[in-house]
Amino acid sequence: MRQRYLIALGSNQRHHRHGPPERVLAAALDALAQAGMKVEAAAPLIRSAPIGPSLRRYANGAVLVTSELMPDELLAVVKDIERQFGRRPGGQRWASRVLDLDIALWSGGAWSSPDLTVPHAAFRNRDFVLGPAAALAPRWRDPLTGLSLRQLKARLTRRARIRKRAVR
Ligand code: ATP
Ligand code: CA
Ligand code: CA
Repeated sequence: MRQRYLIALGSNQRHHRHGPPERVLAAALDALAQAGMKVEAAAPLIRSAPIGPSLRRYANGAVLVTSELMPDELLAVVKDIERQFGRRPGGQRWASRVLDLDIALWSGGAWSSPDLTVPHAAFRNRDFVLGPAAALAPRWRDPLTGLSLRQLKARLTRRARIRKRAVR
């Protein structure tokens, strides 16, 4: 059966062949298509500040894909693509990386296994995911909160504004 996914993409390192992060993400779309995903739509890329130990800025994006693969099978594919782009497993969390592909949402709802949680556990709190994701599929509802991507994005923006006011 055809499954639909929203995949979040990130890069904050040059690739020796593809070049800067924006080019890496463009090449990652081709890699997803080559792996058999049907890329339905891609959000415009954005730049975001790094989280964690890395200091380099990120390019971020999001894509809507359809595929016959179930979430665990898709995870194997995206990990394989990350490896193709030179990412080695077992690195420091949030370290600089050439390519990061996170499965943010799945049309089937929630998936939970030791190495895969969908919706992605942190996506609701990340502007660099919700921005591109809400641009692509504003009405897609998060099965956990029942909120649409547009609502999640607005909620995060509101919270950030309140936090800013609090430190002033
Ligand atoms: P974060 O998950 O906070 O964005 P990260 O992307 O840097 O951090 P990784 O090192 O890329 O983390 O991934 C660690 C593990 O997370 C992966 O090996 C994978 O098994 C697991 N994982 C769990 N849920 C997901 C998901 N929805 N999409 C991708 N990987 C996931
Ligand atoms: Ca990530
Ligand atoms: Ca990841």
